[in-house]
Amino acid sequence: MPLHDRLRADPPGFGSPNIPECGVRPYSIVDKGPAYWILLALITRVITLLHPTLLKRERAMKRLKPFEYLEPNTLEEAIGILVGEGPRALPLAGGTDLLVRMKQGVVSPSLLVNLKRIAGLDRIERSAAGGTTIGALTSIAAVERYEPLRQSHPVLIQAAGLLGSPSIRSLATLGGNVGRASPAADMVPALIALKAGIVAQGPSGKREIPIDAFFKGPGSTVLGPAEIITAILLPDPAPASGAAYLKLGRREGMDCALVGVAAALSCGGDERVVDARLAIASCGPVPLRAESAEAVLLAGPLDESRLREAARATAGNSCPITDMRACSDYRKEMVEVLAYRALRAAWQTARRAL
Ligand SMILES: Cc1cc2nc3c(=O)[nH]c(=O)nc-3n(C[C@H](O)[C@H](O)[C@H](O)COP(=O)(O)OP(=O)(O)OC[C@H]3O[C@@H](n4cnc5c(N)ncnc54)[C@H](O)[C@@H]3O)c2cc1C
Repeated sequence: MPLHDRLRADPPGFGSPNIPECGVRPYSIVDKGPAYWILLALITRVITLLHPTLLKRERAMKRLKPFEYLEPNTLEEAIGILVGEGPRALPLAGGTDLLVRMKQGVVSPSLLVNLKRIAGLDRIERSAAGGTTIGALTSIAAVERYEPLRQSHPVLIQAAGLLGSPSIRSLATLGGNVGRASPAADMVPALIALKAGIVAQGPSGKREIPIDAFFKGPGSTVLGPAEIITAILLPDPAPASGAAYLKLGRREGMDCALVGVAAALSCGGDERVVDARLAIASCGPVPLRAESAEAVLLAGPLDESRLREAARATAGNSCPITDMRACSDYRKEMVEVLAYRALRAAWQTARRAL
């Protein structure tokens, strides 16, 4: 069935982020019987034991390499340590990403600088000048629980609820999700849609970086040596606005996004969109903004056909790769589906507020 007919068959509103009726399915383990999996596990084990590099890697994964560990009490102290120690030191927040990569041998810092003892970095506050400031060390669970955000920026709560599992969310921090610069990070598309700013402090002082200019590549940001993210700034939402984040994974929990789409819209009168932001996860080297889709939304009154055109343009803005989790064609198709659903949900919310 062509994609548009399937889209038409979708229920209105959010819908489930899982899309069983759509296109090529990602690989499903229920397709194979238990004998297949037992045999595969045995073959994998034999290969691992016989292959010296794999065996070495497996042994290395079992234990973290020794490292030094410091717990500064102030930001200045932390920055001083990072300046003094250079690239051998890394900041540690929740550790849900960094410690896993250290175990895998992907990164091997010899010094970890734990930021969690620094007072005041885990607060969520309204700024006097407007907007909300979320301290970088705020856990994803605390973001999810913070009631005023549920009113002002519900899309952030939605993204938080889709990250990992309750135990991961209670350790993982917002600053760590941004600082890791993973193209699959769940909080980042929502932050891009909300026009967030990243506050960083380093040896040359404090600066604010628009989130659009923050990511350089997978795992790479514009942060200078010894610069630490201290907060994320959220501007107040415009009147008559709505936003949504939808994620597709291979399963509903504990899986990073095969595709994620965040959409934010504000509408004026006469069915016109006055502002639009769309961001995509897991479909490029960095979290992407779908600027041509935004242009489609701003070009005229919003109706069903413009919504569909914007969803198609969002897929056009994505450049996913094929990997073991999904092929690029499937991802592109899912970007269109999720963009359509996220836009429709954002549009409905925005219109209710008119
Ligand atoms: C089982 C499991 C499931 C997961 N599922 C998801 C998921 O569904 N979605 C998702 O987005 N992520 C997922 N993750 C990844 C991870 O949990 C998140 O990215 C998390 O937000 C990272 O935050 P953290 O505080 O643990 O960062 P850490 O692991 O402490 O740090 C991550 C990186 O950011 C740097 N960093 C941390 N804080 C700062 C700072 N303030 N300033 C500068 N640099 C900093 C560190 O040096 C490190 O390089 C998962 C991880 C696991 C183990």
